[in-house]
Amino acid sequence: MTQKIFVAGHRGLVGTAVMGALKTDARYDVVTRSHAELDLEDFRATRQFFLNERPDMVVMSAAKVGGILANNTLPVDFLHQNLRIQLSVFDAAHEAGVRRMIFLGSSCIYPRDCPQPIKEDYLLTGPLEATNRPYALAKISGVESCWSFNRQYGTQYLAVMPTNMYGPGDNYHPEHSHVLPALIRRFHEAKVNSDPSVVVWGSGKPKREFMYSQDLGDAVRFLLDLPDERFAELTRPDITPLINVGVGTDVTIREVAELVKATVGYQGELKLDASKPDGTPRKLLDVSRLVAMGWKAQTSLDAGLRHAYEDFVARHG
Ligand code: GDP
Repeated sequence: MTQKIFVAGHRGLVGTAVMGALKTDARYDVVTRSHAELDLEDFRATRQFFLNERPDMVVMSAAKVGGILANNTLPVDFLHQNLRIQLSVFDAAHEAGVRRMIFLGSSCIYPRDCPQPIKEDYLLTGPLEATNRPYALAKISGVESCWSFNRQYGTQYLAVMPTNMYGPGDNYHPEHSHVLPALIRRFHEAKVNSDPSVVVWGSGKPKREFMYSQDLGDAVRFLLDLPDERFAELTRPDITPLINVGVGTDVTIREVAELVKATVGYQGELKLDASKPDGTPRKLLDVSRLVAMGWKAQTSLDAGLRHAYEDFVARHG
């Protein structure tokens, strides 16, 4: 039987990848709305949309997102917009009888200094990283919403926490984007303009795990495809319904900057700007739960970077 599925935020990095994974599958009838058509912060409009469409499932990939500087300078936007979007989508979905939801978050929900790799169980075991605490708290509320609905109403709402992502349709804003798209843009522009050097923020020492967005799309589809009893196992009312998605290895910011430099083919120098924040020293996700279920990321960082750079040149080059 065809399942009607609403992909919220289908034009974002995650949403684009989820759409790519679902669009060729006749078992899913995908429903989308652009931001102009439906403002998910608008409780009434969102409720009306859900009551009209009555989807069977929701992939909740709509969020206000950004890199370390955007998070640091727009804390109210990151906390309040995300809370508003989440409240209206969760309430409307529940009212319209949505049984299965995948709520996308981020690895920044985990404590700043937790042991590595980060297991799902480490949630709420220590203080958060200050630079993105408002965003992290909104996303932690989303995890709690999933669990609360499962406990109170027997739903199957699952929170999925991907590691740092990059890929087609990314946000390449020079200041507000995440590190990989920012560096792709900066190295590309430096190459085009023959600039002698490129600035990389921070000490270059923090480590990050990077996943190509198509791999996340694939993981979301893997989870949606699970038979009812296996999905129900992940969303049992007595456990936090939380699962990590990542590649299992990380690199330093300096290493990733060198990789972007090589991918772009830039010949100049790389300079570190220590006046910019480093953020969390390391955040490598423990993905053993998902791997034990039979899923694994397929794209190497090298290959993913090449695809991402091609996409950047096609759209912005
Ligand atoms: P985070 O993973 O939540 O900390 O977010 P980001 O992707 O924005 O930053 C990751 C790391 O990359 C931090 O240590 C930044 O200091 C570093 N970084 C280096 N150059 C840049 C840049 O141009 N933009 C961003 N956003 N981060 C950079």
